[in-house]
Amino acid sequence: MAGYLLARAGVQVAVLEKHSDFNRDFRGDTIHPSTLELMHELGLLDEFLKQPHQEVRELRAVVNGQVVPVADFTKLPTRCKFIAFMPQWDFLNFLSSHAKHFPEFQLHMETEVVDLLMEDSRVIGVRAKTPKGDLEIRGDLVIGADGRHSTVHTRAGFQLREFGVPIDVLWMRISRKQGDPKQTFGFFQHGKLLVLLDRDDYWQAGFVIPKGRFDEIKARGLTRFQNDIISFAGFLRDRVAELDDWSKIKLLTVQINRLRNWCREGLLCIGDAAHAMSPAGGVGINLAIQDAVATANLLGDKLRSGPASMDDLRKVQARREWPTRLIQAMQVFIHRRVVTGATSGRQSSLPLVFRLLKWFPVLRQIPARFIGIGPRPEHFQSATVA
Ligand SMILES: Cc1cc2nc3c(=O)[nH]c(=O)nc-3n(C[C@H](O)[C@H](O)[C@H](O)COP(=O)(O)OP(=O)(O)OC[C@H]3O[C@@H](n4cnc5c(N)ncnc54)[C@H](O)[C@@H]3O)c2cc1C
Repeated sequence: MAGYLLARAGVQVAVLEKHSDFNRDFRGDTIHPSTLELMHELGLLDEFLKQPHQEVRELRAVVNGQVVPVADFTKLPTRCKFIAFMPQWDFLNFLSSHAKHFPEFQLHMETEVVDLLMEDSRVIGVRAKTPKGDLEIRGDLVIGADGRHSTVHTRAGFQLREFGVPIDVLWMRISRKQGDPKQTFGFFQHGKLLVLLDRDDYWQAGFVIPKGRFDEIKARGLTRFQNDIISFAGFLRDRVAELDDWSKIKLLTVQINRLRNWCREGLLCIGDAAHAMSPAGGVGINLAIQDAVATANLLGDKLRSGPASMDDLRKVQARREWPTRLIQAMQVFIHRRVVTGATSGRQSSLPLVFRLLKWFPVLRQIPARFIGIGPRPEHFQSATVA
């Protein structure tokens, strides 16, 4: 998104992606109402909505066997009053195909950044590995948007503040059949959680486990694990045997962390590279996109004519840091209170937060706003729009 917007603003951009495609399997599939609003502001919304996707206007959770409406997007002050569920590779292919219309935009696939190029203490570019050999690319600004295991922030020596996360996620595919339930927020049971993302012919399943317990789960055997899944979503009983080998079940370690400084001379980190997000609440993609918009809004003009100063770069952090802090605090709360047992209670009981959402429909607008728009939504400023 940052590459698209900067190229649109007339800045020469090279986007480096280490993989040969955008198949980011280990991510969520949510395109939020605020992102759809941005697509409208860019004049891309109608075409975007022609891509295969699902529109979810109300998110429901299944909590201890009871269906609870959690978020009602229909009252949001946005053009699209729904979350669009779309695999992230479709979204990125769409965006990059439009970015390629700008002569300023270059996309280098299979190009993995392995180091930063330095001149004195200033970052002046990156060194990358490609199938054809090593490559050096120089520029006025390197934007590290390389996710939660960021090479860029590591090589820059940035200090990271870790917030303990008590969960990991097991990530696997289970086939989907006609008549299965619609997309939900998740299946919660006594502090445990199964998330199912509808990817048309299969469910992308995320099973939340206490951190560090995967070996224990493996030792109990596959049959018990399959039974665990069935206890959350009984309709998967006839196909859970597809999970017949642990190699089909990937362990994703969940982190929440934040850089103390997101920038140094010639370098800025955004998205998960600046602040790794947990899947809790399904908001990390939205936050990363908002960072990209703020970056283009604040730096587009400067970068058209040369480097951005440290003061300019710090403005991006200053603008995006408090929304990040707020959302990360919410994620820490969800980990402690909702998915790790603090609200587990009796077999059939609903934790208070879910009872309130069930009894008072108006309250469902709060999670809708938080998930759908988030604090401090960004809008394109005219300078970034060609
Ligand atoms: C299991 C799981 C489920 C999630 N579900 C959701 C959800 O439903 N909704 C939601 O909003 N958020 C979700 N999140 C959080 C969300 O995935 C992240 O917050 C979001 O993807 C961050 O976007 P990003 O562009 O900063 O980083 P990423 O999406 O991680 O993208 C980084 C990109 O950089 C590339 N890259 C990495 N290193 C290099 C390198 N050295 N050189 C070149 N390229 C490189 C990667 O291949 C990747 O394409 C989930 C997270 C997890 C772990």
